[in-house]
Amino acid sequence: MTKLSELNTGERATIVKVRGHGGFRKRIVEMGFVKGQTVDVLLSAPLQDPVKYKVMGYEVSLRRQEAEKIEVVSGDQSSDAVSEPQSVSTPAHFAAHSARHTINVALVGNPNCGKTSLFNFASGAHERVGNYSGVTVDAKEGYTDFEGYRIKLIDLPGTYSLSAYSPEELYVRKQLLDDTPDVIINVIDASNIERNLYLTTQLMDMHLRVVCALNMYDELERRGDRLDIDTLSSLMGMPMVPTSFKTGRGLERLLQEVIHIFESREGHDLYYRHIHINHGHEIEDGISRIQRYLKGNDLLRLRYSTRWLAIKLLEKDYEAERVVATLPEAADIISDRDVAARRVKEETGDDSETAIMDAKYGFIRGALHEAGYQVGQRSGIYHVTHRLDWLITNRWLGFPIFFLLLFLMFEATFVLGQYPMDWIELGVDRLGTFIGDTMNDGPLKAMLVDGIIGGVGSVIVFLPQILILYTFISIMEDSGYMARAAFIMDKLMHGMGLHGKSFIPLIMGFGCNVPAVMATRTIESRRSRLITMLVLPMMSCSARLPIYIMITGAFFTQRYQSLVMVSLYLIGILLSIVMARVLSTWVIRGDDTPFVMELPPYRFPTVKAIFRHTWEKGKQYLKKMGGVILVASIIVWALGYFGTMGVAPTMEQSFIGLLGKTVEPLFQLQGFDWRLDVSLIAGVGAKEIVASTMGVLYGSGDYNFSPLTAYCFLLFVLIYFPCIATIVAIRHESGSWRWAFFAAVYTTCLAWLVSATVSLVGSMLM
Ligand code: GDP
Ligand code: MG
Repeated sequence: MTKLSELNTGERATIVKVRGHGGFRKRIVEMGFVKGQTVDVLLSAPLQDPVKYKVMGYEVSLRRQEAEKIEVVSGDQSSDAVSEPQSVSTPAHFAAHSARHTINVALVGNPNCGKTSLFNFASGAHERVGNYSGVTVDAKEGYTDFEGYRIKLIDLPGTYSLSAYSPEELYVRKQLLDDTPDVIINVIDASNIERNLYLTTQLMDMHLRVVCALNMYDELERRGDRLDIDTLSSLMGMPMVPTSFKTGRGLERLLQEVIHIFESREGHDLYYRHIHINHGHEIEDGISRIQRYLKGNDLLRLRYSTRWLAIKLLEKDYEAERVVATLPEAADIISDRDVAARRVKEETGDDSETAIMDAKYGFIRGALHEAGYQVGQRSGIYHVTHRLDWLITNRWLGFPIFFLLLFLMFEATFVLGQYPMDWIELGVDRLGTFIGDTMNDGPLKAMLVDGIIGGVGSVIVFLPQILILYTFISIMEDSGYMARAAFIMDKLMHGMGLHGKSFIPLIMGFGCNVPAVMATRTIESRRSRLITMLVLPMMSCSARLPIYIMITGAFFTQRYQSLVMVSLYLIGILLSIVMARVLSTWVIRGDDTPFVMELPPYRFPTVKAIFRHTWEKGKQYLKKMGGVILVASIIVWALGYFGTMGVAPTMEQSFIGLLGKTVEPLFQLQGFDWRLDVSLIAGVGAKEIVASTMGVLYGSGDYNFSPLTAYCFLLFVLIYFPCIATIVAIRHESGSWRWAFFAAVYTTCLAWLVSATVSLVGSMLM
């Protein structure tokens, strides 16, 4: 086999194969080094690095090590000749053809899963098949000719994992990294699938091309297990074929899948995708921090998937540590690793190695659960996790348990939250009075008391509620319950064009929309993520509560107050459902690629972890308060304080009064007067400001409109423009202003429409 690196200046060759892990292949293919393309060597001296090539009319430099991974045949063959078996006429064509049609396949799997049996069936060689592990000491090679391809098989020793613990594991790993087989057949004992898939998740990390043989399928059938293979395949991003190498069943399809995956491009096929297993917040943070260093090193990237290497480092894998030790940033990388490991330890009480293993099993359990996996004859072992999962995701009990928890959460938030809220309110009042009494009258005092203390003060009172809500959410997340809640909600969410994982951000939205938008990051499908972000503002955040309380208190009798409040929350939820359907049908179309909802093990969350996670969410709220709300409060105050003639004698003559009068005609249908309009405009900064502005404009509750108008106003407040901070968050998470702008416009239009309709219908009825 000729390698591209072996050619001399002026030579020409045709590419037959690019070896190496998926990330590397992708990069090389993007440069134009595609199977069947002709390459000219422009400049190559024995010691020169990089080497210059011409491919597809472009000049490209490759490092020598990169060029070593590219297999070529000398001479010029058109791409047709390379891929069409009929045109094998000249010797050069023949060489190209056979090189192009040789697939190196490695058999990887646990001991005793049937690798050697598969090898024997395929290659016809007669290896001794033993019923104990460790029979295959060395790799055995053989081949089979199948549908115009020569499939070379390597039977590797059986391993449970690819860590660097045993000689077998090290050997297999070295084979996969150095020999870079074109395709891996991962043989799985399907009657023991959960444990066998563990090795598979490690192959996924390595970013290799994998076909799964669900072997011992006869056993699985005999036991009466249930498993939706298609779902499992698409969730794991690799084709899976039921096989039994007692009889040879499934061999043909297995080989066909090998050829298919060899010929197709990653990501163009539901069963051939690269999937990142989610290892949880802290580990993933560590991975991306370590990856930043690794990605800077081209030679490393050539040989390893940087993600895999980062994971291995976090597993304290000494081989990986040795590789990294040669880098100039070695010390930084190891210290980053240690920070991540320490945080994991603090939060879970486990070392990072265990945490990664738990995450992988969580992924496997989630995938199997989604694929409807059920063991036919109860096979003895029954873990606590399985029992709890049975209870919590049970068809009859799951929802009641879930709603009970939600009810408790909201009760605690609003009832318990009331006490600290009152204290803070008192404190803010006292501060305002104190400054009012001690300072001299003038713009500065007015700004401090009415602008800053009035504006920010009306917001800070919600901090306790938000922190309580987020404490609950953090406990549910860290204990593993939220993952199950996502499972229960998945079907319902899919009906909305969303995903089970969308549920957590939506619940968080009741606290504050900003961290909720950020929480959509866990949703792998971009489409679901976008839709979730866009309907999130319909979740009535706590900032809207003061307006509800203020208006319902003034316009409705005690009996109807809570009814009005609840109706607003429900209308918000209903609108989010409608909008999600509308958006998923007409605006953001496309198929949803399925992804796994992990089922991590249950654990008692540590106090430290709860504090940290609550704080991480609550921080966003405080930031918003210190930034946007502070600035907006001052601006609103200034616009209300000054007019065209300097200090305005009344609010009506101030800039804000003028502004309100200008937009008044727009809200004639709803019956809003200029003061309400001004409050709405001010609320663009943050919804809390609506309440504080109304407080300033109406003084002591001298409202001059009907309950119907009041209700329409509440509806408008619920639906319209979320707030600047949320819009900025959407821009950040969606990566474009386009969606942020869309969110701003559609919510405002919807608000106008709904409030106008309710106003019209309401006045007709009355
Ligand atoms: P290896 O350790 O992965 O190479 O596994 P072997 O090929 O040595 O197989 C281990 C044992 O499982 C042997 O006794 C095989 O006969 C048996 N075996 C292999 N494939 C199947 C299968 O599909 N069904 C059943 N029931 N037994 C199998
Ligand atoms: Mg064997």
